[in-house]
Amino acid sequence: MSSDEAIQQIIKKIVLRNAIEYGGSAKYDVVISKVVGLRPDLRPMIKELIPLINKIVDDVNSLDFADQEKMASKLLVFQVVDKAANRKEEPSLPPLQGATVGEVVTRFPPEPNGYPHIGHAKAAIIDQEYARMYEGKLILRFDDTNPLNEKLEFYNAIKEGLEWLGIVPDLIKNASDDIKILHSYGRRMVIKEDAYVCTCKSDEIHSMRAKGVDCPCRTLDSNDQMERLEKFFDGSFEQNEAIIRFRGNMSDLNTAMRDPTLFRIIDADHPKLGRSIRVFPTYDFAAPVEDSLDGVTHAMRTKEYELRNALYFSVLKSLCLRQPKLMEFSRLEFEGMPVSKRKLKPLVQDGLVAGWDDPRLPTLAALKIRGVLPEAIHKFILSLGISLADTKPPFESLEAYNRKLLDKISLRLFFVKHPVEVRIRNPILGKIELKNHPTAQLGTRNVQISDRVYIDRADADRLARGQEIRLMEMYNIQLEDKIQEENGIDHLRVINTGQEIKTNIPKVQWVSNDDMVPFTVIVPDKLFINGEFNKDSLHTYNGIAESYVSKVQLGSHIQFVRFGFCRLQTNGVAIYTHG
Ligand SMILES: [Zn+2]
Repeated sequence: MSSDEAIQQIIKKIVLRNAIEYGGSAKYDVVISKVVGLRPDLRPMIKELIPLINKIVDDVNSLDFADQEKMASKLLVFQVVDKAANRKEEPSLPPLQGATVGEVVTRFPPEPNGYPHIGHAKAAIIDQEYARMYEGKLILRFDDTNPLNEKLEFYNAIKEGLEWLGIVPDLIKNASDDIKILHSYGRRMVIKEDAYVCTCKSDEIHSMRAKGVDCPCRTLDSNDQMERLEKFFDGSFEQNEAIIRFRGNMSDLNTAMRDPTLFRIIDADHPKLGRSIRVFPTYDFAAPVEDSLDGVTHAMRTKEYELRNALYFSVLKSLCLRQPKLMEFSRLEFEGMPVSKRKLKPLVQDGLVAGWDDPRLPTLAALKIRGVLPEAIHKFILSLGISLADTKPPFESLEAYNRKLLDKISLRLFFVKHPVEVRIRNPILGKIELKNHPTAQLGTRNVQISDRVYIDRADADRLARGQEIRLMEMYNIQLEDKIQEENGIDHLRVINTGQEIKTNIPKVQWVSNDDMVPFTVIVPDKLFINGEFNKDSLHTYNGIAESYVSKVQLGSHIQFVRFGFCRLQTNGVAIYTHG
């Protein structure tokens, strides 16, 4: 089989399975995201594949349900697609080097300087997963030693985000709790002459680092150093007047070792310490010392810290502290959804997004209101493993996990985004009972039906005179006339042609004129395209839905049939999750 044929075959299987799951009618957008989810290797060519996918969907949808089932069993659709999905279903991490059951201690050390996002989720999930695998301990340690960036609001946001994700640390602490201990280790390093107080101006330091030249402070005798050290801690220096630097090697090829800063003086309100402290360690100093003192056995961080590993161990060596194992993994962000504060903060500040929980953002608060389930995030992240390859997976690759979970718990309701009135000449009147889910026990609802329903404009446009379609779960209608106005269709005139289930006619969702409420769905799109903010990244559809939706609890997940999964945000408004 050529590779083209193989691709065609896999698409056909996905379409067939989808058609069978959706009662005989496969959906283009679901198929496309399934193709990408199950075969990430096809993603780069997905644009070229779309016409082929659409054609296969049309071909399959034109078959009778019985024929679809026959073809599916011939092609072993369920076995094959299940195998692909199951391979990713229960992903787990590779074993940890040098780990002993019962003794592993991991830590998640976020700086409380912003809202937690998908990148934090990756680190926290991996840390927790390893602690669990080895029946060990997970520490949540706020890395809060820069009062210029940190706020109480962010400690809380991180705690809430982790709680939502199902991360349960065995210990929660702040690096700032240990500030006095960190100070004493810092002093010790200067006394040992493994560090020194530097009073050079920051631009001089910068240029000496670039040139690989020592600064004069490095060679001061120990009396002068001790005097400077006292002044550093007793408040004699102003902010930016002096720093403590590691005595590395100013011509080291690894620039992270060119006498990096270990402590600086910052006059600002610290969220936990107030103004009581002015001397703060940098991450380069606090992280190794805290990891060691906290008993961390396996310290994981993203690989952009790789160059700083040598410094991590040098600090511990100088202080004769135990060395944890350091491990790296790649950062995680979705394509078109950057996590960097530099990119996101201006959007929030300038009101281009509604806040840190705007559904277009990759923050946990945003993913939550968008309808992404924590369990899907866990499965997705574990499926990525701890590879070092820097990839930006598409959001669709998370969707594949989420859809599987949402499918079981989402109410199936009807929403029409661009309503067109349909007048039925010989209607059935009264109430009908519809199931809220084809298989799960999610109850039923009564719908008051009348001689008028609304269907979507796209469906109305496609409908030709004399053509028959099925109003899903109700009856079939045949178009007699399309009444046009200047701006398009005004209404359709149809006749009811009976309830017989015909699998070869299109099935459309509808909303009854006597049982409807105005309903808005907000659809988030890619936030960035080619690195630029996408101004057209939020679409709003003001349509109509069954009035039953008003009884649904806020926060519930709904699958609007032939539209997509949504999460009910407020009364009359849902946010689109995905197709
Ligand atoms: Zn200096």
